[in-house]
Amino acid sequence: MAYIEFKNIDKFFGRNHVLRGINMEIEKGQFVTLLGPSGCGKSTLLRCLAGLETIDGGAIFLDGEDITRKDPKDRNIGMVFQHYSLFPNMTVAENIAFGLKLKKTDRAVIEKKVADAIRMVELEGKEDQYPSNLSGGQQQRVALARSIVMEPKVLLLDEPLSAIDAKLRKSLQASIKQITKELGLTAVFVTHDQDEAMVMSDVINLFHDGKIEQSGDPVSVYTRPVSSFAAGFIGNYNLLSVKDFTLVTGKVRQSGKETAIRPETFTISHQPIKNDDEYHFEGIVESNSPRGNVLRYTVNVNGVRIHIDALFRSRVLFEDGSRVYVSVAEKNCIVL
Ligand code: ADP
Ligand code: MG
Repeated sequence: MAYIEFKNIDKFFGRNHVLRGINMEIEKGQFVTLLGPSGCGKSTLLRCLAGLETIDGGAIFLDGEDITRKDPKDRNIGMVFQHYSLFPNMTVAENIAFGLKLKKTDRAVIEKKVADAIRMVELEGKEDQYPSNLSGGQQQRVALARSIVMEPKVLLLDEPLSAIDAKLRKSLQASIKQITKELGLTAVFVTHDQDEAMVMSDVINLFHDGKIEQSGDPVSVYTRPVSSFAAGFIGNYNLLSVKDFTLVTGKVRQSGKETAIRPETFTISHQPIKNDDEYHFEGIVESNSPRGNVLRYTVNVNGVRIHIDALFRSRVLFEDGSRVYVSVAEKNCIVL
């Protein structure tokens, strides 16, 4: 039996069928992400695991025990939210110690655990500060410390980085990953950001309308989408209908299904490309936009717009309006 098991979970809010027969298994020590657009049921599933929502069908097991009807406070589950919800009138150390004090833990033990947690989240020297004097990133570190100090069976993180600016987010991503691994914690992490899911996760569960659309390690979810929804959400795939595929490549797809092609799998050149085992076509560059270290070109091929990524070194290689030659291997054309 897996460490956490969701069996056939159904959840309604009124007539809104929010979770539709969710089955999911999580192994001990795994860092598992629930990824998906807003409103697809990610937070609801986390809240069901924490016991903050009841379920209308199915069962939840944790560490071999059916916890479906167990009181939230007896589940020993830690939670970190987007909004840090620290106690404003308590110092960093007092915030972190709060749960242990409630449990009437020995004072010396509390001091040691709080000091350890503060070291782990890299807030040494901030013990006596109040939350209002800390940055958002630092406050989230306190919230994280406050959870891990309780040694929860599972740590739930609901979009903990969404309110934090991009630069700090990277360092907090690294900290969260490192701390959970160091402590051997089982973590369930919610995000709507595919890049964040790729960086953080052992396993990604892609949600779509209250169901799990695809589940797997980041590389498999990225390289082998199972549906047009998955291909559209992760990897920025071009999605070509059967008709568009023929317009672009001149070849006919028998399957009657869409073809997904990742932007970076094309070769693009000013000269005709000679490699016989790939599809070849030509098009006109319509525009380009920088995306970090790649430039994304929009190329019009017989009326079909394709996105093609090329490494962005120092200049735009393919000017708007220029004719380009493109190829792509069949193995990179995924029939959905
Ligand atoms: P996500 O976290 O993926 O953005 P949620 O789990 O928060 O999605 O919400 C899933 C659906 O359930 C949405 O349609 C949302 O409006 C609805 N919902 C969430 N919480 C409640 C609630 N307490 N009462 C009624 N509807 C809710
Ligand atoms: Mg949510």
